Amino acid sequence: MSFSDLGLSDELLKAISDAGYTDPTPIQAQAIPQVLMGRDILGCAQTGTGKTASFTLPMIDILASGRAKARMPRSLILEPTRELAAQVADNFEIYGKYHKLNHALLIGGENMSEQIKRLEKGVDVLIATPGRLMDVFDRGHLLLRDVKILVIDEADRMLDMGFIPDVEKIVSKLPQMRTTLLFSATMPPEIKRLADRFLINPKEITVSKPATAAETIAQGLVMVTGAGRDQASIAKRKREVLRKLIEREQPKNAIIFCNRKRDVDVVYKSLERHGYNTAARLHGDMVQSVRMETLAKFKSGDVTLLVCSDVAARGLDIPLMSHVFNFDVPTHADDYVHRIGRTGRAGHKGVAISIAVPSDGKYVDAIEKLMGRPIERDAMSSTGGSGSSDDATSVPEKEERGERGRGRGRDRGRSRKPAPADAKAAEPAPDAAAEPAANAEPAQDAPKAEAPAPAAEEPAAKPSRARKSRSDQRNDAGTMDDKDVVFGQSDQVPAFLKNF
Ligand code: AMP
Repeated sequence: MSFSDLGLSDELLKAISDAGYTDPTPIQAQAIPQVLMGRDILGCAQTGTGKTASFTLPMIDILASGRAKARMPRSLILEPTRELAAQVADNFEIYGKYHKLNHALLIGGENMSEQIKRLEKGVDVLIATPGRLMDVFDRGHLLLRDVKILVIDEADRMLDMGFIPDVEKIVSKLPQMRTTLLFSATMPPEIKRLADRFLINPKEITVSKPATAAETIAQGLVMVTGAGRDQASIAKRKREVLRKLIEREQPKNAIIFCNRKRDVDVVYKSLERHGYNTAARLHGDMVQSVRMETLAKFKSGDVTLLVCSDVAARGLDIPLMSHVFNFDVPTHADDYVHRIGRTGRAGHKGVAISIAVPSDGKYVDAIEKLMGRPIERDAMSSTGGSGSSDDATSVPEKEERGERGRGRGRDRGRSRKPAPADAKAAEPAPDAAAEPAANAEPAQDAPKAEAPAPAAEEPAAKPSRARKSRSDQRNDAGTMDDKDVVFGQSDQVPAFLKNF
């Protein structure tokens, strides 16, 4: 099936071809003709499947005739996060380039009066997060009775983030005669109930099971042992491994995931100190303008290493991202699938490498169980601090401290000789990732899903077991090899021992 079989206008087909797409994805092939006929859709699909175009493309053709009145948008797209909303807006720019439609964003964290001014001019497509939309509505700047098409995107995220009451309120203000499209990565009973209430005889489309993995992603796992039990040493060793991976893999662009906001800062600063001057960070506490700017730089290639948390990365759409590094193994297996699904999208090849320590064993097990297959152990995995050149433990201490003078930035990293190319991570893995439920980025008015960051940023050496639960501490102690503590600490042999 080709795009020209779907009933789209010539202008759209041209824009699609300009975007470089040759064939519709399964959700596009199934949804687009139905939406053009005005049928409601219940789509079970994750990001990465092309679902955004499956609703933006037909919407552009449907809205092509007609004009919007002031404060009365003709269509409404609800998104759980600001980033997702911004990405949908990007889609309208790309696909709507031969049309005269206008769109506006109503999202938290940005100037409301500017947004209201746009509404006053009349918008064909309003893309909004529920909190900001209700705010503007309650202030009387918005009328919803002209909305002919409603899209509720990532409904399960809305549920996770407590947005459903707002969504219900919003839908109650819309005309009964409308087309409604509801997309969700998963279909928990609450979403099914919502669908039953909001949709009329919908076409149900399921394009892939949640938590399946994509064929285009080569996965690997570096097991770091020999760092002892001290959390600061472990974190330091992981940062060394990360740098080695970057040097070996030479990613075109990569996302580096940390489990905690605090570690996002630590890892970012460490990379910066080591001369990776195209690194940046993204987390939920950053002001919206900086987040958007960082994302734009990542998309343009000015930033190539983006350190972020799950929450900040939600919805990030970078079509050609080459690598994902999990600086921390996620504690929820779903998050792993979600993270690695940032790469290997839309048929492109990607590499996802996770850095694990022995205490991550239970999380690795859960991930492998969810995916139904083991993750290959990367050749870089250390074996207890032997100090061999491939051993993560062999990076000199002064390098970690960031002593300068060996050249800076991406080129510096790239000029180094990569590690032997027998890394198993480079082999294609049979499975690949789609997007299961995971943390969603809270809008300003949403409950935060991330662990709070401490007021002051801590240096790399600080993260301690103080924040760990007793059971985690027990687990650390139980799963790490005592031998590692002795042999992994240092190559230095005290003088008195040399006599033996
Ligand atoms: P989405 O699932 O909407 O987040 O889309 C995932 C990625 O696939 C985006 O980068 C789109 O630009 C890209 N994409 C969407 N449709 C197609 C298509 N038919 N062919 C190739 N790439 C596509």
